[in-house]
Amino acid sequence: MLQLKNIIKDYKLGDGSVQQALKGISINFRQNEFVSILGPSGCGKTTTLNIVGGLDHYTSGDLIINNKSTKSFKDKDWDDYRNKSIGFVFQSYNLIPHQNVVNNVAMGLTLAGVKKAERIRLAKAALEKVGLGNSLKKKPNQLSGGQMQRVAIARALVGNPDIILADEPTGALDSETGVQVMEILKQVAKDKLVIMVTHNAELAQKYSTRIISILDGKLVDDTNPYSDEALEKDQAKPTAPVIQDNVKKKKVAMGLGTAFALSGKTLREKKGRTFITALAGSIGIFAITLILAISAGMNDYIANVQKTALSNSAIKISETAYDIDGMMTVEKVNLPEYPRDANGVYPHIADAQKEIHNQITNEFVAYVQNLNANLVTTVEYNYAAKMNIITKNDAGYKLLTTKGNSALISALAGPTSWYDVSSQILSKRDLITDNYDVLYKTTETGLPTNRHELTLVVDKYNRISTATLNALGIDYTSDLAELSYETLTQKVFKLIPNDTFYTYDGVKYVQPDKDNNEALAAKFNDTHAETLQIVGIVRLKNDDAIGWLPQGVIYSSELTDYVLKDAEESLVGQAQIADHDRDVVTNNAFTNVDMLGRTKEEQYQAALKNLGIIKVPTSISIYPADINTKDEILAYLDAWNAEHLDNKITYQDISQVFINMLGEMINIVSYVLIGFCAISLVVSTVMISVTTYTSVVERTKEIGVLRSLGARKKDISRIFNAETIMIGGLAGLLGVV
Ligand code: ADP
Ligand code: MG
Repeated sequence: MLQLKNIIKDYKLGDGSVQQALKGISINFRQNEFVSILGPSGCGKTTTLNIVGGLDHYTSGDLIINNKSTKSFKDKDWDDYRNKSIGFVFQSYNLIPHQNVVNNVAMGLTLAGVKKAERIRLAKAALEKVGLGNSLKKKPNQLSGGQMQRVAIARALVGNPDIILADEPTGALDSETGVQVMEILKQVAKDKLVIMVTHNAELAQKYSTRIISILDGKLVDDTNPYSDEALEKDQAKPTAPVIQDNVKKKKVAMGLGTAFALSGKTLREKKGRTFITALAGSIGIFAITLILAISAGMNDYIANVQKTALSNSAIKISETAYDIDGMMTVEKVNLPEYPRDANGVYPHIADAQKEIHNQITNEFVAYVQNLNANLVTTVEYNYAAKMNIITKNDAGYKLLTTKGNSALISALAGPTSWYDVSSQILSKRDLITDNYDVLYKTTETGLPTNRHELTLVVDKYNRISTATLNALGIDYTSDLAELSYETLTQKVFKLIPNDTFYTYDGVKYVQPDKDNNEALAAKFNDTHAETLQIVGIVRLKNDDAIGWLPQGVIYSSELTDYVLKDAEESLVGQAQIADHDRDVVTNNAFTNVDMLGRTKEEQYQAALKNLGIIKVPTSISIYPADINTKDEILAYLDAWNAEHLDNKITYQDISQVFINMLGEMINIVSYVLIGFCAISLVVSTVMISVTTYTSVVERTKEIGVLRSLGARKKDISRIFNAETIMIGGLAGLLGVV
């Protein structure tokens, strides 16, 4: 049983003043009666009703339910009370527009966590009671006003509450449909307490059992008062009816699943907006996905480039080199740009002049040999071995090792001599067997194992350039006319030892004229001539294989050793070693300073080098194991330089220059992408917030209805959270797609 005790309700207004809507209202209600509250607009009728229904809380006084004060009620207690004991009917129906009739009626049950089949059954029963058993699937906007109010009554009845509160239920209806609604409420009042607010005195008198008049926040008349004494007497009876106790019914709780189902429905109703919001949200995810993909792709690409670059361009230490690093990077100058107050100009050494001369010593070679073997794939020591090679082709005998063009011209015009097309095999043979297929072989491996054996390297189309063939003195008929493997392996090259090649004429050591066919024939057929032959033809396995070998022929280190030894031990070699005053091949005397600016000693050393008399490698190529060990190797080389200031070694690291530039570019692109990504994320977040906010504002009425049906604040935020999560998820999905 319900009692209002001296209820005062103050509204705090925006300007700080207080509006007293109720000024001490006391009413006792019977367990079932049809009470009408009458009064002019603004007298406090709705306020009274809302306080009875728990939608609004009194400032002072007390609302007593079943003889219990509600002063200590928590939000949860009020929610339970609204959900289980109260049914609201509003003037403006307050149906949820995107839910159909059944679902509108069942909403309170949904919030209370009643199973779906059960709530549909109860909702249908309630709708039948108000005569709407055949409009179940209709949406509110397909109904007339009277029908909508009947749906609202069905919604109020469905949970079988003890109290029905109706705030001007007929206010928006014509008198005919208003009468229908009143008839229904009259029926309901037979076993429930119905409290109806109206300003239609006629209807109130006709249908209700008690009329309470309010004026300016005070009770002024009650046609059928229920005194405290009568109430106490009724309550003392053992069969005294009570307002359903909270514990009797299941606790009000909306599952997370229900929240998702409800908001899923809402989102489906608003497909367009949901999609656009998700699309806006997806930009952020899209950007992140894109940046991840791009950076992963770039990293992969760089890793690949590095691998290839590492095999193709080792860290190279040569006797002469150019400061490529200096050429590729912008010079750092400690002078102001475009000076205004300069009085002169400053001479400086131009980059192009920065040719480097490295003094590769045995000590340095030993230092390199001490390099941790785990850091490198291989270290190759190259010697400028001088060879005298003669071959025979259709045109006659040909000296292959006449001094060719300069390296620059070879690079532009293609190879012209044996030196341009031959190289020593890598010390690490696995690198070749792992990356190359042997197409044809006349020995067990097809790779050079002694000084007589050569291997021919062809490209992936089995081609070999005509310039290379010319340099090797191999005959061919025309472009792409096949040369059989047999022909190639039968080709004979002769290495002529110095003592056979050079003839002492009493003054100097003379080499045969390259155009003197007879002289070349004699050397070719000399018994001391060493035969060299191609014993195998190899080709890269596939595009992913790493090309360690240049096109042309490769020879063994035994051949290098043989040639170096021959250069030093031959008569011409011995003669040059002994003679510090002249070149024994050209008979030119060394001068104090020659045309190239070299000293006498330097001219002597050059003459020895020309004959291939060398003790140290002319260049060293260090192939790092991977890009990470490269820095360690460079640090190792830098450590040498720190200790040998008088003999610094400059190394060339072309790939590094390239990779540095590439890295810088990728960084810039990444920063731009990250910026884009951050902006889009912010935009996305703002978009979703705005949409959610709009959604909340737009649906304050719906939220009110849900609250009147007993939804907790938590449930409301749950519904919106579920909605936001679903939009976010959809955005994510879109973004990823
Ligand atoms: P009615 O009898 O027309 O239903 P109400 O109960 O709605 O009257 O209003 C009673 C008084 O309280 C009115 O003067 C109204 O302006 C004021 N009032 C109602 N609700 C609020 C509110 N939320 N804030 C401030 N004043 C309110
Ligand atoms: Mg009102």
